[in-house]
Amino acid sequence: MTEQIFDVIVVGTGTGGSSLGALSARAGLKTLILEKNPRIGGACSGYEKDGFHVDFGTHLCTRGGDGAVGEVLRRVGGLSRVEFVQPRKLSRITGLGLDVPLYTSARTIFKTMHRLNHQLGVTWRELPGMFRLTRDFFWMPEDEIDEWDNKTVEEFILRHSRNPGMHAHINVMMALYFVYPYWKSSAGEAIWCTKRMLESRAVSYPKGGTVMVTRIMLDSAKDRGATLLTRARVRKIMVEKGAARGVELDDGRKFRGRAVVSTSSLKDTVFNLAGAQIFPVDLREMVKGLQESHNAIQIKLALDRRVIQEASLIVLGSPHGNFRPKTTTISRVHQVYEDLLSGRVPELVPLYLVVPTNFDPSLAPPGKQFVTMCTGVPVTTTRMEDPPEVWEEAMMKTLREAVPGIEKHILWKEVVGARAIESWIGKPGGPAISTAQVPGQVGNERPAIRSPLPGLYFAGDGAGGRGVGTELAAQSALECAEILETDFRAGRMP
Ligand SMILES: Cc1cc2nc3c(=O)[nH]c(=O)nc-3n(C[C@H](O)[C@H](O)[C@H](O)COP(=O)(O)OP(=O)(O)OC[C@H]3O[C@@H](n4cnc5c(N)ncnc54)[C@H](O)[C@@H]3O)c2cc1C
Repeated sequence: MTEQIFDVIVVGTGTGGSSLGALSARAGLKTLILEKNPRIGGACSGYEKDGFHVDFGTHLCTRGGDGAVGEVLRRVGGLSRVEFVQPRKLSRITGLGLDVPLYTSARTIFKTMHRLNHQLGVTWRELPGMFRLTRDFFWMPEDEIDEWDNKTVEEFILRHSRNPGMHAHINVMMALYFVYPYWKSSAGEAIWCTKRMLESRAVSYPKGGTVMVTRIMLDSAKDRGATLLTRARVRKIMVEKGAARGVELDDGRKFRGRAVVSTSSLKDTVFNLAGAQIFPVDLREMVKGLQESHNAIQIKLALDRRVIQEASLIVLGSPHGNFRPKTTTISRVHQVYEDLLSGRVPELVPLYLVVPTNFDPSLAPPGKQFVTMCTGVPVTTTRMEDPPEVWEEAMMKTLREAVPGIEKHILWKEVVGARAIESWIGKPGGPAISTAQVPGQVGNERPAIRSPLPGLYFAGDGAGGRGVGTELAAQSALECAEILETDFRAGRMP
């Protein structure tokens, strides 16, 4: 056992852990940050290969320096050190009869919706409903949003539209936000995120790769005296006299801490790291019943030249079916996710594709391009009916149809499957969002950051917070930092 006693021990260096480590060190708390991987960043990590910077995930920052991530950076003095690059034309929905450019400016929303409605074959009679849907999604008054927390996005849309094409479109968008189907995702959370994104107008990508954000946060923590250890997997959260007292690593090292904050999933923290028996039954039952989002399969492509002009793309494909948004039905939209849940390649395969080198050309050798793309797959506890190769081929076929000729420019390709994500982020099953943003798990009903075990806190995308992915994790860290400060001041620490 080391003699040093830390005020705060943070488990994990994803956006949640890095944010909290930096905030905790800034508050003057003696902080230890532990990361099981050799590299920092969690889902936002990255590595170098043949002169290309490879993002481990497929990320855009939905609010750049303006939301919770920006707030953490601002508080720790790192905001000016991250350049969030914003393209004028953000993305394009393409494939299956759709071609709709997406911009970051609010002024273009009605133009975009007009184009989408036209391509989806929305009739004149349906237009007033579409107008109300757009208005509510983007401009709902703040005090009405909470009322939608415990209703699904599908219920919200059905208030205004039964157009199956619009349901399919929104289902794809919710898969991007929450990696979960629209008939399960919380409408309040979706509206909150959409409104904030619109207000911020800062969807962007950090120069230097997605890992830059966590790197700047951790640098700030270290500058303020925090200790960061990589290759330091926490095996156990040590519990003595009814309180969390520190952690034990895989290699046997032990560290004492007055507070332990885990940014792994709640299931992992409660059932594996701390041990379920020390928690009250209601907490155990709550954690056992938590819904998690889906996992993802990703393909990374190094290209010999700039093939894709857009900064990002939403590509729709139907490699084994004849899905067309214009002629589909709501039940077929549901079927897409039912298939996905069984690990079968669905009739509709949406690809979320980001081109980091179109934001920052220095991420590849001169003139070359790097592309990362993903689609949702079930968490690893589901036995996949279609093997990973079938998913990979479905994704590549979808891409080839949207970007003809791309294949002859591929220098190399890497597939990051569901198990690789699970193993890297350490959350069992590998969910993209460990506590899914569904009714009963958002807003006031989000799992609490302060656990019932004195000295143990949950943070990251599993507890507290609001927003899309990294924003959710950073917001959770902001809330956790405030709770820690209160608890330290009130002498509540064991
Ligand atoms: C393919 C994909 C695409 C995504 N796209 C976006 C996007 O475009 N925009 C967006 O905002 N979000 C996106 N997300 C979601 C986003 O990445 C996550 O919600 C967010 O990064 C979670 O941050 P976190 O800190 O909670 O957890 P993580 O980033 O998962 O970090 C957890 C960390 O804890 C470490 N850890 C776990 N257990 C232990 C242990 N026992 N000991 C030590 N360390 C441990 C892990 O190694 C990891 O570093 C995407 C996710 C995926 C998988």
